Amino acid sequence: MAFHRQRPNQRQQNSQQRKKRTCRFCDNKEFYVDYKNEKKLQRFVSEQGRIIPKRITGTCAKHQRMLVIAIKRARHMALLPFVADAVK
Ligand SMILES: [Zn+2]
Repeated sequence: MAFHRQRPNQRQQNSQQRKKRTCRFCDNKEFYVDYKNEKKLQRFVSEQGRIIPKRITGTCAKHQRMLVIAIKRARHMALLPFVADAVK
């Protein structure tokens, strides 16, 4: 009978190798997110056409805000889909 359950003190920090993600726009020194460049915006949009959150793409808060505005503009200009075709 184990009265004293020892919790393993191994934290998975070392095993999880976190990639250091940096904001793509900050790296390229691109200040303005161009809504007309839909190829670039498509990287930040999922296959269903949804905006990928910044915790996944690594975009900084400032550029994520600009990106969201740019994607919404691009949708309005029919450069990006609001909803992509559903995968069956
Ligand atoms: Zn940035």
